[in-house]
Amino acid sequence: MQASKKGNIFIISAASGTGKTTLVSRLVKHHDDIRVSVSHTTRPPRSGEEHGKHYYFVDNEKFEALIGESAFLEHAKVFDNYYGTSIEGVNILREQGYDVILEIDIQGAEQVRRVLPDACSIFILPPSFQELAERLKGRGTDTPEIISKRLSKARNEIEQAFLFDYVVVNNDVVTAEADLLYIIKSHRLKLPSQQVFIENLLEKS
Ligand code: 5GP
Repeated sequence: MQASKKGNIFIISAASGTGKTTLVSRLVKHHDDIRVSVSHTTRPPRSGEEHGKHYYFVDNEKFEALIGESAFLEHAKVFDNYYGTSIEGVNILREQGYDVILEIDIQGAEQVRRVLPDACSIFILPPSFQELAERLKGRGTDTPEIISKRLSKARNEIEQAFLFDYVVVNNDVVTAEADLLYIIKSHRLKLPSQQVFIENLLEKS
C-alpha cells in the first residue's frame, strides 16, 4: 500500500513586534496548503480574538491538566501566561497533508527542535531596534509597562536567532512573505520531505 505524505513543520519565532503574526496570516491566506497551529493559552483574549481561531483560551487549571496528560508538543510561560502547542492538533493537520506553521516563542522553538529535528525553524528580525519600538507602540494592544518589558526582552530574543535554520528580515511585508515562501518551498524539496515520494515511486517500478 502506498504511504501518504505527512505535512512539514515550520517553526516561526521572532522578537515581539516584528510583524510575525501579520506575516504568517498573509502567508496562510495566500496558500491553502499551509495552516497555522492554534495554540492553547491562559492569557485573556484581546479584542477581536476568537476562541478556536486565534487561540484556545483556557484557565490555568485546564492548561496544567493538559500538561499532565502530555498533550503538548511544547509549552512555555511567556509574559506570565502559559502557551502550548497541542500534539493532536498538529498531527491532524499533518496527516491531512498540510504544512503546519508553529508561531511560537524561542523556548517553544527549542523544545520542538529537540523532539522533531526535521522541523524547519525560521527567525524573523526587525530591520532595526528603533523600528521595533515604533511598531510596538503603534500596535496599541499593550500597556506601556508591557511594551517596555517586551523591548527589554527583544535584545535577548534576537540573540537566539543564531539557533535557527533561516533568518528573514521583515523590512517590508511583501518581500518578507516571499522570502518565507522560498524557504517553505525549498524545505519541501529536502530529502526527508521527499522520502515518501521516492519510496512510492520505487514501489511502483
Ligand atoms: P501573544 O500573547 O502576543 O499572542 O503571544 C506572545 C508570544 O507567545 C509570542 O511570541 C507568540 O509567538 C508566543 N506563542 C504563541 N503561541 C505559543 C505556543 O503555543 N507556544 C509557545 N512556546 N509560544 C507561543
